[in-house]
Amino acid sequence: MTKRVVLIGHPVAHSLSGAMQQAAFDAAGIDAAYELWDRSPLALPGAIAEIRRDEFLGVNVTIPHKERVVPLVDRLTEEAQATGAVNTITREGRRLVGHNTDVAGFDAALDRLVGRQKMPKHAVLLGAGGGARAVAYGLIRAGFQRVIVFNRHLHRAEGLVKHFAKGAAHMELRAMPWHVSIIESELAKTKVLVNATSIGLVGDETPVPGEILPSDLLVLDLIYKRTRFLRDAEAAGSSAMDGETMLLHQGAAAFKLWTGQEAPLDVMAQALAEARAGGIQSAEGEPAGESDPPIEAGAATAASGAG
Ligand code: NDP
Repeated sequence: MTKRVVLIGHPVAHSLSGAMQQAAFDAAGIDAAYELWDRSPLALPGAIAEIRRDEFLGVNVTIPHKERVVPLVDRLTEEAQATGAVNTITREGRRLVGHNTDVAGFDAALDRLVGRQKMPKHAVLLGAGGGARAVAYGLIRAGFQRVIVFNRHLHRAEGLVKHFAKGAAHMELRAMPWHVSIIESELAKTKVLVNATSIGLVGDETPVPGEILPSDLLVLDLIYKRTRFLRDAEAAGSSAMDGETMLLHQGAAAFKLWTGQEAPLDVMAQALAEARAGGIQSAEGEPAGESDPPIEAGAATAASGAG
């Protein structure tokens, strides 16, 4: 019997995950079909009850349900517990386990960005949503000693800091108000800059003016395209990488959890590139963006050729 794997979100029609995961199942000879379920928040508990049945191999969860689904599963892994968000569900019989593979995705992206250099200790994080939580957790685990979080609504950045306070007691994790002059001053003290806001997803906006970007930073944008933010960072002399590696590796980690097999990364990367070239605009967790030219696989200029 063909097993079912579903992405539950609202909306989901533009997700790239379907193309990526279906290609992986087909390449691995796994008889599974990836379905997109558009479910409103009210319909979420019913959808979660449904996926307890044997025919379901696993589930991805995306915007706006990643946090809402937490109380609906039976057990959380360490990453899901720590971030307070679930993007992947596996079944243990009729029990559901919530995972957060965005963390593994970010770890892979950070490794690639840093390459053979020594892991830096200072980072500036723009954004305080679900993606930013995976980034903050990854930075804490990677041994960063100072992470400054800027967010349009300061209270949300403060909430993030409070959420991780216990695990970050040994380091400086601090929220600061979103003022260009304060961001500029913090950028002068940092090595890693991550954009985890959705600014730039649609249109050509950027979270910080190009003029305040120092040279020689390692810059990551979670958005899966060559944003103005990344172009400005490169023009300033920094190494810049988009969200492709994170997207690919969160998907690969989910595939492994569902199937017990290593994910066919090349196949998944190719499927992502083709889906994007074919006009599918949105990465997992992204609302539909406006039309944009596809990025080339590996177009990101990571600090080294690693990865
Ligand atoms: P959330 O909706 O949880 O958070 C959105 C963030 O963007 C918040 O910090 C919000 O600030 C900020 N923001 C949005 N609009 C503006 C604006 N006009 N001005 C200033 N700040 C703004 O989304 P996620 O955290 O899930 O996703 C954020 C981005 O990361 C998306 O582009 C998503 O696609 C990407 N992502 C990529 C992944 C990958 O695998 N590559 C994985 C996960 C996310 P505020 O709180 O003040 O509203």
